[in-house]
Amino acid sequence: MPAVPPADPASRPSRNFIQQIIDADRAKNPQVVVHTRFPPEPNGYLHIGHAKSICLNFGLAKEYDGKFNLRFDDTNPAKEEQEYVDSIIDDVRWLGGDWEDRLFFASDYFDQLYDWAVKLIEDGKAYVCDLTAEEMREYRGTLTEPGKNSPNRDRSVEENLDLFARMKAGEFADGSRTLRAKIDMASPNVNMRDPVMYRVKHAHHHRTGDKWCIYPSYDYTHGQSDSIEGITYSICTLEFENHRPLYDWCLDQLEIHHPRQIEFARLNLSYAVMSKRKLLQLVQEKHVAGWDDPRMLTIRGLRRRGYTPEAMRAFCERIGVAKFNSTIDMAWLEDAIRDDLNDRAERRMAVLRPLRVVLTNVRAGEPLEIHIPNHPQKLELGRRDVALSREIFIEEDDFMEEAPKDFFRLKPGGAVRLRGAGIIVCKNVVKDKAGNVAQLECEFNPDTTALVDGKKVKGTIHWVDAATSVTATVRLYDHLFATENPDTAPEGGTFLDNLNPKSLEVVTARIEPALAEAKPGESFQWERVGYFVADAVDSKPGAPVFNRTVTLRDTWGKEQAKQ
Ligand code: ATP
Ligand code: MG
Repeated sequence: MPAVPPADPASRPSRNFIQQIIDADRAKNPQVVVHTRFPPEPNGYLHIGHAKSICLNFGLAKEYDGKFNLRFDDTNPAKEEQEYVDSIIDDVRWLGGDWEDRLFFASDYFDQLYDWAVKLIEDGKAYVCDLTAEEMREYRGTLTEPGKNSPNRDRSVEENLDLFARMKAGEFADGSRTLRAKIDMASPNVNMRDPVMYRVKHAHHHRTGDKWCIYPSYDYTHGQSDSIEGITYSICTLEFENHRPLYDWCLDQLEIHHPRQIEFARLNLSYAVMSKRKLLQLVQEKHVAGWDDPRMLTIRGLRRRGYTPEAMRAFCERIGVAKFNSTIDMAWLEDAIRDDLNDRAERRMAVLRPLRVVLTNVRAGEPLEIHIPNHPQKLELGRRDVALSREIFIEEDDFMEEAPKDFFRLKPGGAVRLRGAGIIVCKNVVKDKAGNVAQLECEFNPDTTALVDGKKVKGTIHWVDAATSVTATVRLYDHLFATENPDTAPEGGTFLDNLNPKSLEVVTARIEPALAEAKPGESFQWERVGYFVADAVDSKPGAPVFNRTVTLRDTWGKEQAKQ
C-alpha cells in the first residue's frame, strides 16, 4: 500500500493565529520555509514561560517540516555565564527541542554586526553620540512630547567612522560614547528616536574574551542575527511589538534577508513569578533550595518535581497561543502531569503518617502473600507480591474516633477494606498516656467482598506491612506562593511577603519494599495519595527520598479552607 502523505498542516482544525499567518503565506507561496529559533539570553535558568516559547517555535518548525535554531542572545557580557549556557542546552533538549547542528551564539556575529554598523555610518544612517546616559534620557522626550536631536547628530561620515573605530580600539571610557541609529527624534514610537546600537563596555565576554570593548544592543543584534541564520518567522513576546518598526528598519537599511517578526502573549501562571530577577532573588536569598528546587517553575525545578517533557508539551499545546496577555490557572499545569502519569506511572502503596494496626487473628511470623496489579488499566505492567503480616500501618487520618456518618473509612467497631488484601474490623483503640491513639487492634478477613453486620463495606484504604515496609523521607510540596498574583505585593511589602509558609512539609513515611528500589527520577502513583518521584539528587539506594509531584486531585482550595 502506498504511504499516505502527511495531511497538509493547513487542513488541521483549530489553527492558532501564528499558524493562520503561516498558512496564508504558504497559500500564496508554497515554497515558504518555516525556520524559527529560540533566542535565550544566558543570564539565568529557563522557566516554564521559556518552555512555552520553545514548544511553540520548535512545534511550528516540526509541523511544517521546517527548521529550528537554538541561538544564545549573548550581547551583554556582564551578566552571562557558561553555567547558564550549559543548563539551557540541557533543558531545551530535555523538552524535545531539536536544533540539529544549528546551535548559534549572537556573539559569533560580532564582526559582521560591526561591518554592518560601519555601512550604516557610511550611508549616513548612524552616528557617534557623546551624550551621557542621563542626557540621552532628557533628549529622548516622552510618550507625549517629541525628543530633541543630539548635538552630535550631524557629525560627518568621516568623523563618525573615526570615532567608531576608536570606540572599538578602546580609547573611550565606559558610557562615554554610543553609536546611534539616525532615525527620527520626533517619532511617536520612542524606540525609533535614534536608538543606541553600540555601547562602550570594557568587560570580559564568556565567548569573545577581551576582543571587544563595544557591545551591540539587543535591538541592533536580534534582527540581523535572525537574518544571518535565514530565520523566516521571528516569534517573540508582546513587549517587542513596539520594537518591530526598528527590527524592520535595520533590515531594510541593510537590504538583507528580512524575517517576519510575530508577537504573542507571554505565559503568566497563577501562584507563580516568572521574572528572572525574582527567581534569582529567591535562590540568592535562600527562600528555595536552588534553581532546581521542586517548587520553582524553572524547567530544572519542574524536572526534579517529576514533570515529564510529554506533560510540559501537552500543557503548552492546551493553553494555546494568544495575542493578549492573560494568566493561566496553575491547575492546567497540574492536570497535564496528572494525565500523563495516570497513564504511565505504576501504582504503589505508601503511608505518609503511619498509624500502627495489629491484626489480632493473623499469627506473628506467618505473613500472607498478596498480589497487587501494578496498574489497574494496564495488566501488561504485571503485578507484585506484597506481604501482609500481623502488624501493618494505615494513614492516621483514615481512622476517626468520633466519625461523622459519611466517614466511610475506619472507626471504632467499623470496617474498611484494605486495598487488594481483605477487610478489617476495628475492635479496640489503644491510647498512649497522653490520650492519643497509639494503635488499633483489628480483625482481618481475607474475603474482600465479605459483608459486615449484613452490609457491604464501602471504604477502601491503602496500607503497608509493618515488617517489610521501609521508612523514607518524603517532601510534600505545594504552591510556592500563597496568593494567586504573587507579583502584586501587599502595601509596603514585596513579592516575598506572598510566599506560602507551607509550601514544603517533610514527613517520614513508610513505603512498600518495591518502592525502596526506585531509581532516581522514577515516578509512581501512590494509591490514594498522589504522584511521587524518587528525587534525582538526594535519593540513595536503600535511603530513598521522594518528592510529591502533584496530589491526585486539585485540593488547593480545600486545603486552604481547612487552615
Ligand atoms: P529577560 O528579562 O532577561 O530578557 P526573558 O524571560 O525575556 O528575560 P530571554 O532569555 O530573553 O528571557 O527569553 C528567551 C525567549 O523566551 C524570548 O524569545 C522570550 O520572548 C521568551 N519568553 C520569555 N518569557 C516568556 C514567557 N513567560 N512566555 C513565553 N515566552 C517567553
Ligand atoms: Mg528577553
